[in-house]
Amino acid sequence: MNCVHCSSKAVVSSPPYCKEHFILYIEEKVQRTIERFRLIDAGDKIAVAVSGGKDSQTVLYILHKLYGNVHGIAIDEGIPGYRDRTLKDLETFCTTHSIPFGIHSFQNRFGKMLGSFPVHGGICTTCGVLRRYLLNERAAGYDKIATGHNLDDECQSVMMNLLKGNLFLLAKLGPKSGIVLRNGFTQRIKPLYLCTEKEITTYAFLKGFPVDFIECPNAADGFRSSVRDGLNNIEMQHAGTKCNIIETFLNILPSLKELHEGTRQIYCTHCGKPSMSELCKACMIVEDAYV
Ligand code: SF4
Repeated sequence: MNCVHCSSKAVVSSPPYCKEHFILYIEEKVQRTIERFRLIDAGDKIAVAVSGGKDSQTVLYILHKLYGNVHGIAIDEGIPGYRDRTLKDLETFCTTHSIPFGIHSFQNRFGKMLGSFPVHGGICTTCGVLRRYLLNERAAGYDKIATGHNLDDECQSVMMNLLKGNLFLLAKLGPKSGIVLRNGFTQRIKPLYLCTEKEITTYAFLKGFPVDFIECPNAADGFRSSVRDGLNNIEMQHAGTKCNIIETFLNILPSLKELHEGTRQIYCTHCGKPSMSELCKACMIVEDAYV
């Protein structure tokens, strides 16, 4: 089968694209996503949250290509046999493409690695809260933090919050996260929002990015993995389901944000960062103050 745009052999089907046109298709799709959701303004200083996996290497590469002045910020939670390997890939990637990056560890910031914290609500919750906190801290001075979340990731988050009945967290999702801009928070943006996991995997592979394709050993334990498997099964039988979920979600998102705009938000009495309670979740974890 040949590419729909030229006489070269197609490397992907539906629609058939050769390597060159598939790469172009993904890069244009990301640019259109940025324009459609107004993710980046002229002159924005952009930090990219990077883990060393396929999604973060892809978003870092495309934003660097489109905007030039981007900086990678990696968080090392201290997950042996996993994070050390992805960070090695990241180092190879950034050196190859001359992209500046920095690594910031839980050990240096919080005094211990992920596995040494008491677990409340699952290890992924602890990991996510502390990672977001440290990332936000290190991105001070930047206008936006771009993340590598793709359409599959967002679909899982939408379904997880629906299944948990958490409309407030649901309202915080979307291509630009958060409900209202707050002092002390750098806005997160998701340029890969409309790209599927399969598309990003193919793009990273065709670009020859140094990606190990390993999974965190804790990933299988999470609620997310059950939701991911369920969605993948439905998508296999009813192609287009994930896209439909996201487009429907985007239709109701403005109303959801409006509904929660007035939700009382305060600042943590311990660290001064935006919070929903007197102590923010990160301080509760670090101080072991969960009740
Ligand atoms: Fe952290 Fe869980 Fe992701 Fe592993 S799977 S990196 S523990 S959030």
